[in-house]
Amino acid sequence: MNYDKKKYKIWDWKSPVILHWIINPGLVINELILGQTIPKVMLIEREGSKPFYQRSFVPCPHCGTLHSGLKWSSQNKTAFKNWFGYYCENCKGIIPPQRNLTSLIIIILTFPIWGWFRKSIRQSWLDKQPARYMNLNLEIPEKKNTTKNWLKSGLFFGIFMYVTMTIIFPLIEQKEVTQKSLLIGLPLWLICGLGWGYTMKVWMNKKGKINKASNKVLQ
Ligand SMILES: [Zn+2]
Repeated sequence: MNYDKKKYKIWDWKSPVILHWIINPGLVINELILGQTIPKVMLIEREGSKPFYQRSFVPCPHCGTLHSGLKWSSQNKTAFKNWFGYYCENCKGIIPPQRNLTSLIIIILTFPIWGWFRKSIRQSWLDKQPARYMNLNLEIPEKKNTTKNWLKSGLFFGIFMYVTMTIIFPLIEQKEVTQKSLLIGLPLWLICGLGWGYTMKVWMNKKGKINKASNKVLQ
């Protein structure tokens, strides 16, 4: 599809956020178990004083609708359970998800197990979707991006990655969990987590470029 490149910055697999989604193996838990997902393409409005989420859009490749980035969020209870992608309530289609590399491998390897039920699982998931999008709130709650919040989400992400990478993954691979790896992993993932939390905070608060002409109209 062609998007207005002047109006929107186009995010695809080459953008840091989506690329991170692809390569970080820990996100396999988010994707396959929690059903958290990211679309293949996102559009970010270049201009405007609104914060990031209100300038981000998810285009539906089937009907062309630009959905607000806030449609799939925890405030709407729609951030999870999107195993097949984002549901477009306009055309009842599914906006294809960008798969995480590790989950893609797992999906392919386990295909003989779930492949038989694919259609029925997908259909029952699809049947549940319309009800989830009845009462959406596309406004950002005021206090969202405080320091406490980014510290909390950074710490949470760090601890989540720590447990996944130093305990769960070695156990799956039947490797030993050593005291050394536990000790090294802790500061490493805490720093990564806090860095992630902070980057997200900066991103989310980032305002679009102000176009002087349109700004006057807005005021
Ligand atoms: Zn659509």
